[in-house]
Amino acid sequence: MPSSLRNMPPVAAAATECRLSGEGDTKRDIIPGKDHKCFVRLHGDLILSYRLRAVGGPKRPTLLHQEPTRRFDKLFELFDADAFFQSYLACRDAIHQMLEQTPLVGDFDLAPDNWDDFLPHDLAMLMVRAVRHDTDEHGGVTLRYNVDMDLTILVNIVYSEPKALLLACEQRATVTRCLFAATPTDCPICMEDSDTTVRVRLPCSHSFHCDCILPWFYKVAKCPKCRHDLGKYLVAATDTPMGKFPGLPQQP
Ligand SMILES: [Zn+2]
Ligand SMILES: [Zn+2]
Repeated sequence: MPSSLRNMPPVAAAATECRLSGEGDTKRDIIPGKDHKCFVRLHGDLILSYRLRAVGGPKRPTLLHQEPTRRFDKLFELFDADAFFQSYLACRDAIHQMLEQTPLVGDFDLAPDNWDDFLPHDLAMLMVRAVRHDTDEHGGVTLRYNVDMDLTILVNIVYSEPKALLLACEQRATVTRCLFAATPTDCPICMEDSDTTVRVRLPCSHSFHCDCILPWFYKVAKCPKCRHDLGKYLVAATDTPMGKFPGLPQQP
């Protein structure tokens, strides 16, 4: 997370995710001899944007702020060049670890789930495919290379107001804990009383499946049953007016 967001209230932080995408080119220079060291250089541009998914807002998160492009550049020595150039999995994992150790890039959560297109996967495919092609051309002899990867990495920090609202209601329900067991009731949205799905009790005391109420919160911050206004719980839990990204310094 960027430093400006490190002091966000916990509810807002839990409703904020880091989405990554990237693209890159690889160039490789053949280096002579088996005993020469191989290096991989990762360099390029990192573009950081902040987006808001607002209650009642458009489906795609709205861009609020984009920081000036920053450059990163780091050189790595390969300890097991044979594995890197010949095994797709080893190559992919090594590139992922290198990105994690690259200044600026490594500040973000680079977990594979956070990538829209897993950049290390694409780069490893490119690399290993090219090396296999070279090997065929050279009659089965595997060559050694220095590699230069020129990358553009887009980091989107997305704050979801509907998710924060759900968390704020859950937090509130924990504070005003029920001291008795209510008889199970149907979820007013799907009309089923399934208790295998996680439920949330809103401050007005109406209870819904989380999976049912979240899409509702995309449209409006009110209880679907009694129209109780829930916006104030969101504002209290995130310390930020609705329609704003908590903790973001330069808002238009
Ligand atoms: Zn339901
Ligand atoms: Zn209600």
